[in-house]
Amino acid sequence: MEITFRGVRGSYPVAAPHSVRYGGNTSCIEVWAGDTCLIIDAGTGIRTLGKELIARDQRDIHLLISHTHWDHVQGFPHFAPQHDENAHIRIYSLAHADRALADIFRAQQQAPFHPVSIDNLEARIDFIDLQDAQSFRIGEVQITCHRLNHPSFTGGYRIEYGGKVLAYASDADIYGPNLLGDGMKNGAPELEQVRREHLQNSARDLAHRADLLICDTFFLPGEYQPDWGHSRPEDGVRLADEAQVQRLALFHHEPHRSDEEMEAIEERYRKEALCDLFASVEGMELSL
Ligand SMILES: [Zn+2]
Ligand SMILES: [Zn+2]
Repeated sequence: MEITFRGVRGSYPVAAPHSVRYGGNTSCIEVWAGDTCLIIDAGTGIRTLGKELIARDQRDIHLLISHTHWDHVQGFPHFAPQHDENAHIRIYSLAHADRALADIFRAQQQAPFHPVSIDNLEARIDFIDLQDAQSFRIGEVQITCHRLNHPSFTGGYRIEYGGKVLAYASDADIYGPNLLGDGMKNGAPELEQVRREHLQNSARDLAHRADLLICDTFFLPGEYQPDWGHSRPEDGVRLADEAQVQRLALFHHEPHRSDEEMEAIEERYRKEALCDLFASVEGMELSL
């Protein structure tokens, strides 16, 4: 698998001197499994990737969406393969209880928010709603989606190809005390505890013996908010340890975190982690 970090920020993009080295675009990971083109999330990092995919005449594109908060879908209206009549874009995401995935994307990409409606594109676009713990294959690639602890309906992905495993767990408050997803809370403490454990087990299943875990580590310990649905680097370190991960990538950086702060975070947690650890940098390329 060939992996390129196209966008590593959370919440919203930043273009400022403090973010030049780690990058300012929001969540997007490019993954090649042989000739199969996978993209995880469509934050603003997807824009330049789209132009490159057009240039190499890549027609089949599989877009795995963790959830539809803006920092994970906002780049999609600017994804050039939309306007390629030969392109076939399949968009996968955990199903919402009350709304089809197509309707959520349609709501973002229509007048007066955007000049070109998603219904008037040249590319063929198919939407695929996934269920919690659903596994499916794309050619030789095995993909599993597990629900994570984050507002709305949020899924992480486990991608297996050629004996290697990539796990993506963003956004998620992995060990947080509060249940944050739609329909999760019901006021019955015992049932809520079962759900909490289920969500933690889901994160461990996603990451189990992964060669690389890309994990939401938005907060520093002093900033932690229990209702926002994000983790801290120590949560990523703990998950990587419990799931026996080889390499941990800190991801979904807080937008105002400076390059100097990111370097300090990387250095600090590298000492605490049992596995190899690094902070994701926009443009970074890895091979599994
Ligand atoms: Zn996010
Ligand atoms: Zn989110």
